[in-house]
Amino acid sequence: MFNLKNKHIFITGGASGIGLAVAKRLSDAGAVLSICDLNDQETDLGQYFQADVSDPFALEQALSQAAKHTPIDVLINNAGINGEDGVSIEDSNLDLTRRLLDINTLGVYHGLKFGPRFMNDGGSIINTSSLGATLVFPGSGPYSASKASILSLTQMAAAELAPRNIRVNAVAPAFVKTQLTADDETLFEKISANSTLTGRMANPEEIASVYHFLASDDASYVNGQVINVDGGMSVGFTNKTLELITAS
Ligand code: NAD
Repeated sequence: MFNLKNKHIFITGGASGIGLAVAKRLSDAGAVLSICDLNDQETDLGQYFQADVSDPFALEQALSQAAKHTPIDVLINNAGINGEDGVSIEDSNLDLTRRLLDINTLGVYHGLKFGPRFMNDGGSIINTSSLGATLVFPGSGPYSASKASILSLTQMAAAELAPRNIRVNAVAPAFVKTQLTADDETLFEKISANSTLTGRMANPEEIASVYHFLASDDASYVNGQVINVDGGMSVGFTNKTLELITAS
């Protein structure tokens, strides 16, 4: 089940958080890993490429080197950064907005533009979006926009790569305990306790299991989809939210 024996997986942002949990899980499932990240913290999980996904040529070079001997079966465009929280679009920082679009959106676009030529037919691409792409969290406009674009890129690429039987899907987590959320973890834990059905933030491993499924041939009929992995946050009101509203 979910067999990835000898499948070649290329993952961006694989040195930390969700990406690292995915890399560990897929490696345990028998995959051969190529990890691409901005930082120089090499892991012992596979080949390591230090590259910035916002730089198209650096990412193309990393993909090309990774695929030199064995083409890629699964490409995971996961690298990303957080934006400001609680800041309106009017007050948002222009430079940070550009960085968000460069890394979160164009980083995925570069993967979709250059990745397929280094892939085997019949493979799978998984893009990391966010629940914030579809569920409004006031004060995070540029980040949400950077992640919302990934949904249309995912659908478009799924249609374009269908003739090669390459499936393209997106994963949209809610709040996950990683470096990205570390500064505001108390706040995010409070929000998750009240607005998810699960009643807490996720651990990276709980997100990684969905990538494992999507990477495998067991997901052969899942294509062009976004999978919310959000503890039920997108379902609607929770009992706790209702209690808070009725008590006010
Ligand atoms: P993280 O900070 O732990 O990991 C992100 C990794 O991406 C780091 O290793 C970092 O070095 C790398 N990276 C950042 N910019 C890069 C660049 N320009 N080029 C190459 N690598 C780069 O954070 P995480 O929570 O694991 O985030 C992974 C993905 O999940 C991101 O796309 C993030 O937006 C998304 N996400 C996270 C959450 C959450 O709550 N943690 C929720 C929804 C979506």
